[in-house]
Amino acid sequence: MLFKHSFFYRYVAPYTGRLLFNVLLRVLSALFTLVLTIAIAPLLALLFDTGKAESAMTGGGLAQSGMELLENWVHLSVVTNGKYETLLYVVLALLSAYFLKNLCAYMGLYLFIPIRNQMVARLRNDMFHKFMILPLSFYANQQKGDLISRISNNTQDVDTQMLNQIQQVMVDVVTFIFLIAALFFISTPLTICVLILLPLIGVLTSFLSRSLKRKSKRLQDTIGHISAQVTESLEGIKTLRSYNTTGYALRKFEAENALFFKLNTRVFRRLYSSHPLNEVLGTTAVALILVIGGYLILSDKSLRPEAFITYLVTMIQILPTSKNIMTAYFTYQSGKGSWMRIKEVLKADEVILEKKNAAEIHDIRQSIRFENVGFTYGKKPTLKNIDLELPKGRFIALVGPSGGGKSTIINLIPRFFDPVSGKVLFDGKDIADCKIDCIRALSSLVSQDTVLFNDTIYNNILLGNPQASREEVIQAAKMADAHDFIMATSNGYDTLIGDSGTKLSGGQRQRLSIARALVKKAPVLLFDEATSALDTEAECRIMQAVQQAGKQNGQTIVSVAHRLSSIRQADEIIVIEEGEIVGRGTHEELYEGNSLYRKLCQMQNLDNRTTTPQARQQNEIQ
Ligand code: ADP
Repeated sequence: MLFKHSFFYRYVAPYTGRLLFNVLLRVLSALFTLVLTIAIAPLLALLFDTGKAESAMTGGGLAQSGMELLENWVHLSVVTNGKYETLLYVVLALLSAYFLKNLCAYMGLYLFIPIRNQMVARLRNDMFHKFMILPLSFYANQQKGDLISRISNNTQDVDTQMLNQIQQVMVDVVTFIFLIAALFFISTPLTICVLILLPLIGVLTSFLSRSLKRKSKRLQDTIGHISAQVTESLEGIKTLRSYNTTGYALRKFEAENALFFKLNTRVFRRLYSSHPLNEVLGTTAVALILVIGGYLILSDKSLRPEAFITYLVTMIQILPTSKNIMTAYFTYQSGKGSWMRIKEVLKADEVILEKKNAAEIHDIRQSIRFENVGFTYGKKPTLKNIDLELPKGRFIALVGPSGGGKSTIINLIPRFFDPVSGKVLFDGKDIADCKIDCIRALSSLVSQDTVLFNDTIYNNILLGNPQASREEVIQAAKMADAHDFIMATSNGYDTLIGDSGTKLSGGQRQRLSIARALVKKAPVLLFDEATSALDTEAECRIMQAVQQAGKQNGQTIVSVAHRLSSIRQADEIIVIEEGEIVGRGTHEELYEGNSLYRKLCQMQNLDNRTTTPQARQQNEIQ
């Protein structure tokens, strides 16, 4: 469990085999680098004509014999082919080694690219999956743009700053080890000096990189806020313009952008400090080597000049390698800021959890019951001791002043939240013991905020029930009073509705949402101010059609309505005030016996009769 959210456990470990193969190619590449380095000594011996180019190495019988083998070959070639031709052979060998070194390095990269992309794809999938299952309470505390930034910018950063660095470090570490081995091969005392300098570099590096991770996390948070501000401002552009308040949005954005500038400057200054630091340390190391090497050649005579030059060439190759490792470490640390932001999402509490042996439930035969339900979002209780029976096939309305807790009751039915106390029961079964998918399949919710997708009208309705036939979609649209306006659009049901349905009016969008809910044919229909954007006449028409269909199909309808004209025909009306049920009964009963309900009706010019004036007129004509 401890490692479950570790970056390596989930995103690197599954690719170990392929990564190791990549390392193998890198080892080969490093080996060719080594060959190139060591082959320089006989080449120099040949050019400077230092007689029998004895091994310049200080230790290792096997190593010495390898070097001797090389020298013997050079001498043999000088005798048979002459110096110039031998030089050409040596150069040709060097070129081949270069070619093979780069070929192996490229093959390694070639194979690493799909691994890296798979890692990123997996990371994005994990995040999106989490987005889909996180409870609504999570979204109440998050900005949409910030979450978008986490799944787009931050995953990209993890790719470039962490995954890319892992592969870079693999390459460099292997090369580094081989080059250090080569240094030992040439001169042990000199190499011991180099190894004393390396931990010093390490200490300085970790000191500088310590704050980088923290700074980078703050920077990424700021990018998230910028993204959130852009999303918010673009979504509300109409409101901002109409109130002439674009200046307000601009000021907020500029302040966030200024903070980004400040933090980004700091992060990059710290990031780039690794380069000069490394240069200074590297140059100091070379200067020290020059002094010690010079001593070994001039006084001690234990080191040959050509071996020393080979040593320096090898050292020069080590410097960029160690610099790369250091830079990769720094970049990795700054990438961790992004990873921490991703981890916050991946680790977020799912709250609504399914029990291990959760029961399946596919229908509601009798009723939905709220048993002494209490709920709170924060400190103040939102619902108190709610006891409520919603019998199958009935039309129940929830009314009352806004903020009373009506939507909260609706949201407890598909288990968007769990009650803090008490239970919600479907046919006597606690929904907390049932499969979440089953519970959600039993109801369809239409809320005040219509959500439509950038697709055809047909597909937007079909989303409610992908198995529905075209006839069923059309029937649902007719019931939702949407068929006529759909047929009037350019391509009828196949018309594209634009981003979030921007090409449609508020009322049309709401009609499509209702059609989508109806096509699902779920046992429970939850309407949360679902008809608020419609005119009273259309609202009554739709509610009557829905009620009729509900009666025929045995569907339970739970409707929250501000406009009481649409629900006065309900079988039961529940009056809710400050999280408590303060009245229940039919329209007529409540009008007579409940002062709050009567007041609400009078404010809307409603009398105590259950039918609408239009319906009454029709009845009179008949
Ligand atoms: P109604 O539907 O009757 O207008 P709600 O159920 O929407 O009432 O809200 C009941 C109370 O809970 C209100 O005081 C509201 O501010 C609060 N509330 C609603 N949703 C949230 C939320 N996601 N986080 C915190 N408080 C909330």
